[in-house]
Amino acid sequence: MTTTVRTLQEVIQGRATSDGAGVKLTRIFGGRGPERFDPFLMLDAFGSDKADDYIAGFPPHPHRGFETVTYMLVGKMLHEDHMGNKGLLNGGDVQWMTAGHGVIHSEMPQQESGRLSGFQLWLNLPARDKMKPPSYRDVPAAQIPERTVDGSYYKLIAGELSLAGETLRGVIEADATDPFFLDLHPAAGVELVLPIKAGYTAMVYVYQGGIQLAGVERPLMQGELGLLSRDGELRFTAGEDTRLLVLAGRPLGEPIAQYGPFVMNTQAEIEQAISDYRNGRLTRMDVA
Ligand code: MN
Repeated sequence: MTTTVRTLQEVIQGRATSDGAGVKLTRIFGGRGPERFDPFLMLDAFGSDKADDYIAGFPPHPHRGFETVTYMLVGKMLHEDHMGNKGLLNGGDVQWMTAGHGVIHSEMPQQESGRLSGFQLWLNLPARDKMKPPSYRDVPAAQIPERTVDGSYYKLIAGELSLAGETLRGVIEADATDPFFLDLHPAAGVELVLPIKAGYTAMVYVYQGGIQLAGVERPLMQGELGLLSRDGELRFTAGEDTRLLVLAGRPLGEPIAQYGPFVMNTQAEIEQAISDYRNGRLTRMDVA
């Protein structure tokens, strides 16, 4: 039996942009040709030592129709939403928000100097769940499974992973998209193999160092996202001091209509979302 290895379909360089009230960030993917990343919609990386790059934060703004997963590496960020949830994210923590029918929230840095860095991933919801009630969860770093095996460090935010005879389970459960989200600091020079479910979209984002995928001509270097072929396992060897995110999920295969922070299936649903937001109904499930 031969084992299929996932190869590189596309290499994507993030582009510098700003969002919120002027936060400088790198949009690794998002907005353009979203079907390629299904069920993921967007991945942003933010990281700066300069307060001017992040201090303005993300004042109150809406979301509808998908989920956001924020993973802080360093720094402090405060989430507050219309449901009265308030959560302070510190380095290593994760915030998981299901916008569903509608959320209005702010995401504001809680520091005036020093480094702030992390990621925000947007995960789509299937049509049947897009208008479900919103929810919010803070997951402190201490609750997220992490292991070091043979010199490689694994932190499992979502999905399942068997390591050294033990099955780890991440902290995010999304039935339809069944996401896998791993922060991996691999030992250098050792080939690592990670199984990924057949037919799932998979990608790796190298945020430090570089990796060489098995059977692929070119390495993936810091700042590059590799979108992988649809079947097989992930097999690669990392260079020194490498860190990467591994993402995989079950594609929804539904039409995607997006207007900024609203992600629905049709243009009519987008217009409804804009109108609901203007009329104060985005966060009200009691009015049709
Ligand atoms: Mn937001």
